[in-house]
Amino acid sequence: MSSFDIIVIGSGPGGYVAAIRASQLGMKVGVVEKAEPGGICLNWGCIPTKALLKSAQVLEYCRHSLDYGINSGGDASADFSAVIAPALPSLTAIRNNAAGMYVVT
Ligand SMILES: Cc1cc2nc3c(=O)[nH]c(=O)nc-3n(C[C@H](O)[C@H](O)[C@H](O)COP(=O)(O)OP(=O)(O)OC[C@H]3O[C@@H](n4cnc5c(N)ncnc54)[C@H](O)[C@@H]3O)c2cc1C
Repeated sequence: MSSFDIIVIGSGPGGYVAAIRASQLGMKVGVVEKAEPGGICLNWGCIPTKALLKSAQVLEYCRHSLDYGINSGGDASADFSAVIAPALPSLTAIRNNAAGMYVVT
């Protein structure tokens, strides 16, 4: 059975920063996460929503391209799986990098 100096519950920005700092101070850190490593910010909030916002802006530009003197046909639509896809490798990399800074097996 593993033993730890400190257990952090939740791996959102609050939890993983605390875990990384405790690890930097030499403690053996355990992190308990009931959902996705990285919490709301990484998996649903800050980063994914920025991808959605950027794609919404591009869609708006396409639909109103004539206002900018561009004829794009005017029937642009969103493919939501393709909208979020470019962000997924970054999310995975950040998740793995953060976990790698404190994970103890
Ligand atoms: C749509 C949206 C957009 C956002 N955009 C931004 C932004 O652009 N910039 C910004 O600064 N902030 C943004 N935020 C706010 C940001 O997401 C939060 O401030 C941040 O996630 C809070 O971090 P936290 O660690 O306190 O909590 P959380 O990120 O909620 O992490 C808590 C973690 O604890 C886990 N947990 C909870 N209970 C237990 C349990 N009993 N056992 C084990 N694990 C548990 C949860 O599964 C979760 O992973 C946004 C939020 C939302 C919803």
